[in-house]
Amino acid sequence: MILVSACLLGEKCRFDGQGKISPKVSQFLEGKAYVGVCPEVAGGLGTPRPPAEIVGERVLRADGTDVTRAFKTGVDLTLKIVDEFQIDQAVLKARSPSCGCGKIYNGEFSRTLIDGDGLLTQALKARQINCQTEDEF
Ligand code: SF4
Repeated sequence: MILVSACLLGEKCRFDGQGKISPKVSQFLEGKAYVGVCPEVAGGLGTPRPPAEIVGERVLRADGTDVTRAFKTGVDLTLKIVDEFQIDQAVLKARSPSCGCGKIYNGEFSRTLIDGDGLLTQALKARQINCQTEDEF
């Protein structure tokens, strides 16, 4: 079973209130079993919401608001889905502080990318789950 960032399926759960449907991901998923999740919404964050970035061990908004707890709650709830559905692969939204894989923003809200993973992706990789972003299709 494949875990998919819900925004890639067109769900309007992104910080800007939009989805980010990926035709290439949709094509890849055709005929396959998958489940869509948005860890940030699962963690109790509203849509739209101010953008957040990983800063060290925390997740912060540009005004300094600490949203780490909501992000971590979203990861924990998503991991329950991972276990329930025996997820063995994930297709994730690039550059997100939750779903990003390989590259994330540097925590300065300057649109500068650094090597790293979002919080959900870190947890998935720790479970040896194969993670890709829509950019890889
Ligand atoms: Fe998409 Fe993940 Fe951000 Fe939710 S948390 S909007 S699924 S990138």
